[in-house]
Amino acid sequence: MRAVMQPEPLGLHQVFDRCETLFADRPVVLGGAAGPTTTTYGELFAQARAFAGRLTELGLRAGDRVATFAPNTREHLLAYVAVPGSGLVLHTVNIRLSGKEIAYTVEHAGDRVVLVDAALWPEWSAVALPACVEHVIVYGDIAELPERHGNAVVSRFTDPSGVPPREGPWYRPADENEASGICYTSGTTGWPKAVVYSHRSVYLHALTLCGADTFAISEHDVVCPVVPMFHANSWNLPYASLLAGASLVLPAQRTDPAGLAECFAAGGVTFSAAVPTVWANLVAAVGAGEVDPNALSSVQRLVIGGSAASETLLSELAELGIEPVHAWGMTECSPVGLIANPPADAEAAVAAASKSSQGRPMPGLDLRAVEDGVPAPRDGASIGELQISGPYVVADYYGAEAGAVADKFVEHGGKRWLRTGDVVTVDERGYVRLVDRTKDLVKSGGEWISSVALENHLLAHPAVQEAAVIAVPDPKWEERPLAVVVARDVDAAQLRDFLAARVPRWQVPDRFEFVAEVPKTSVGKLDKKRLRGEYA
Ligand code: AMP
Repeated sequence: MRAVMQPEPLGLHQVFDRCETLFADRPVVLGGAAGPTTTTYGELFAQARAFAGRLTELGLRAGDRVATFAPNTREHLLAYVAVPGSGLVLHTVNIRLSGKEIAYTVEHAGDRVVLVDAALWPEWSAVALPACVEHVIVYGDIAELPERHGNAVVSRFTDPSGVPPREGPWYRPADENEASGICYTSGTTGWPKAVVYSHRSVYLHALTLCGADTFAISEHDVVCPVVPMFHANSWNLPYASLLAGASLVLPAQRTDPAGLAECFAAGGVTFSAAVPTVWANLVAAVGAGEVDPNALSSVQRLVIGGSAASETLLSELAELGIEPVHAWGMTECSPVGLIANPPADAEAAVAAASKSSQGRPMPGLDLRAVEDGVPAPRDGASIGELQISGPYVVADYYGAEAGAVADKFVEHGGKRWLRTGDVVTVDERGYVRLVDRTKDLVKSGGEWISSVALENHLLAHPAVQEAAVIAVPDPKWEERPLAVVVARDVDAAQLRDFLAARVPRWQVPDRFEFVAEVPKTSVGKLDKKRLRGEYA
């Protein structure tokens, strides 16, 4: 039997048309070259229409790629609207990749136009630009620009006048599976891999983030996406906010504790999201008296994701009167896949345990932990690789060489499962707990040691600010854990004793390295590949 409902394609046009119609008066505070400016969604959409008109004038056709090389600014948000809103595909280039990787992703995506933040011109202009790029448009303050970069004509964002703005409704895809954006994974091996989001997947994921039991983003919120707009669409917060009519505050480059506190206070931010280090630094700055806790008084919920949130960080945020929301994600899952909200009927202990887990699947997603090809029991103890499937999970990587990614997917039970490379347990209630990345587990004397668990315990020591545990080769045990820590007034023997009270003796690292800062990846996670290179 066929349903009688309208087969209206899902897409970003629904997000944009709704926001422009219903929320035109809503104020938004957008960072940029000239500092934060307060404007409205109405004004923002007018500017997006002007930019869309300019993109059309450049001769771009539906499906062509437009890239951005920018922090979280007003102009970046304009591209978020104008590009997919014109039927083009937005490639948000990771500004922290090496020049070679940037050139690779731009060529691989086939970008025709790139929008560049003037503050990043030194990094951008050093890239050997592939021939596909025809136009480089620069916004922000910069005294001099060359006429060309590679084959591309360089112009200023403010240059054209007389170009008619886009009119009428935003681009409505004939097929909801048309591409709306491209993000490259920040993988630690080989070239970055391309995840191409569809209008449908972005819409569904944004809608899901507005659910009361997920991020609960609503018209009552003021959302500050701290996570970079080049990292998995800033976890889809901009699109979810436009859909819900939540106000947005974009911090631009000001993601240090003082800058964020100012942003939060100025915009009355209620909701934000970032990797654990960002929030740990903010909590430390409050503790050190460098940030006034009153500046955070409007903040209700902070999402911690991208790496494991320690129990210490969760309780420190709660002590500031902020509800911490731990979430797990992957660029490949649009990106949020799991959310650690406690079950409705939970007693305090269960609620606390569920909040520090990686969480339960977002609506629409299915998961399993697989060990030796067999799903592990959901008993909270058996471990297996997390596999995930659903309408906003990748089915393939764009333009991957034949066979290069075959081992990333498994067909089973009529579903296509993404192999995440994360080793987890799943409990009776469906809460997932990450044991480790497959490649970060430490194998000592035939037994596995979770680097994440050791890091969590170390972070519970009041003198420890950052901790990363890696495996180093050992002639007797094959591998042993080594802890790299940022700490004050504590020595290795004290940390060893502290851990020995919490984990079996044989798991306690033999070596501790005290450093000023643990190196981070391009998206702010502990850079364990680099640490292994340095200490192995
Ligand atoms: P990316 O695609 O760069 O966002 O990286 C995805 C990976 O980040 C996942 O496969 C996990 O290993 C890790 N990750 C993301 N969120 C969490 C979390 N809440 N806890 C632990 N690891 C996480």
